Amino acid sequence: MERIRKNNGDSHRGEEGMLNNKVAVVTGASRGIGKEIALKLASLGAAVIINYNGAEEKAEEVKKLIEDKGGKAEIYQCNVSDFDACKEFIDYVIKKYNSIDILINNAGITRDGLLMRMSEKDFDDVINTNLKGTFNCIRFASRQMMKQRAGRIINISSVVGVSGNAGQTNYAASKAGIIGLTKAVAKEVASRHITVNAVAPGFIQTDMTDILSENTKKQIASLIPIGTFGNPEDVANAAAFLASDEAGYITGQVLHVDGGMVM
Ligand code: NAP
Repeated sequence: MERIRKNNGDSHRGEEGMLNNKVAVVTGASRGIGKEIALKLASLGAAVIINYNGAEEKAEEVKKLIEDKGGKAEIYQCNVSDFDACKEFIDYVIKKYNSIDILINNAGITRDGLLMRMSEKDFDDVINTNLKGTFNCIRFASRQMMKQRAGRIINISSVVGVSGNAGQTNYAASKAGIIGLTKAVAKEVASRHITVNAVAPGFIQTDMTDILSENTKKQIASLIPIGTFGNPEDVANAAAFLASDEAGYITGQVLHVDGGMVM
């Protein structure tokens, strides 16, 4: 499913220095899309706080990758579904860095199953991590951004939050909820020059989609106009743009990064 790319192979080139002196929090940055967003923002000059829940070693690896390239990063364990823990997390960042310029709400899980067989726990776990986790971090970071009269909030939704998907009622509801939340918060904070946008990835090659059988992957790819799954870098590039000064007049939007899957 590799796609041929017309670049020099270094997906973290970017416009060096574009995010110098910015402080970025990326939730769920130990693996997959969050990891790639952390690497991208760091490559553009931001100091990155790599949040993770369980995968401490992987979070450390991301930190090392950033530091090896001369970037600034640290790791922070926090279960984003825990309101009080998120307060502690964001308070820590504000105390240490005196600002939060970019918040990327990326942490997410799936617990797939048909509705008729879905347990209450599987529904609650997905909503609590994906939707409530996004609310929790915004709840505490937005106060600081209001004071700064500047900020960028980017929430990772999904195409299935727009189109629905059989076997994912919990996940689709959480991702549709993120879109509604994004638009409501965008309206609340726009006058303070804080933008709030969502990115809706299609099928991206990560641990989350690695569990699909080769046959299912082929079937899904046949529904994608571009014909392949995306890479985490595709999502990271979109997030980096929305985090930049250049995106200052874009708010309340949902940017699909899905190879044309939903249009
Ligand atoms: P992934 O490879 O499974 O990684 C998930 C990340 O979220 C990990 O870093 C994990 O940290 C973290 N996480 C999970 N629960 C957490 C919690 N309670 N608190 C803090 N962190 C938590 O997933 P991915 O594919 O990169 O997906 C990233 C985001 O993109 C998710 O929101 C997902 O829904 C969305 N998305 C993915 C796709 C896709 O095709 N892959 C498509 C559309 C949208 P630990 O490992 O440390 O627990």
